[in-house]
Amino acid sequence: MYLIILCPQCSRASAAREGAKTHSCPYCGSTMRTDKAKVIARARNGREARKIVVEINARGGDIR
Ligand SMILES: [Zn+2]
Repeated sequence: MYLIILCPQCSRASAAREGAKTHSCPYCGSTMRTDKAKVIARARNGREARKIVVEINARGGDIR
């Protein structure tokens, strides 16, 4: 499982592997704790995760 989490620094979505303690944002480089991060979606595999990330970021980085 993958978690789609929102970066607290730049508000963009990226995919983190479930179970990982930390995740670094590929956009701004900040490191966040996955248990504190805002999880906005879940995906079953990396491909699905990337698709969701692209869709969310195309809408401006947050689900409304
Ligand atoms: Zn970021």
